[in-house]
Amino acid sequence: MLQRTFSIIKPDATERNLEGAILDRIQKTGLRVVAMKKIRLTREQAEGFYHVHKERPFFGSLVEFMCSGPVVCSVLEGEDAVTKYRELMGATNPANAAEGTLRKDFAVNLEANSVHGSDAPETAAFEISYFFNALEMIG
Ligand code: ATP
Ligand code: MG
Repeated sequence: MLQRTFSIIKPDATERNLEGAILDRIQKTGLRVVAMKKIRLTREQAEGFYHVHKERPFFGSLVEFMCSGPVVCSVLEGEDAVTKYRELMGATNPANAAEGTLRKDFAVNLEANSVHGSDAPETAAFEISYFFNALEMIG
């Protein structure tokens, strides 16, 4: 099923100039970029994006991290895009991430784990609309 998912290349990765390397790996899976922008999140924007985690002990630190530098937001389209991209990303903690995954190869630690990807089609719909309007998506 043709599907869309939402991706963020996080501040630890943009800091190390890894946008191109990560996008190359994304595109090699066959997923297509249908929207993309580089922005710096405000605290409010980061809090809103990760609102599902607001009761978690790591929430404050996560928000701080996500605002600490630029991020590259994109909408990816392809067959089973949500699952396909989560598989490419690997486990949240890079110590547990499988060989060949983005987090295994690029993540610094559990928080600075280089990439975000939607965890379900419903989450993807919310996250895409949080950052992009219909006119900004092609395809
Ligand atoms: P993401 O939503 O960013 O794709 P995920 O779905 O793999 O990651 P979540 O449980 O949604 O993992 O956590 C969101 C993010 O919060 C993680 O990617 C990581 O940056 C950070 N995080 C998660 N758990 C911890 C923790 N125990 N300590 C510090 N940071 C954490
Ligand atoms: Mg998540």
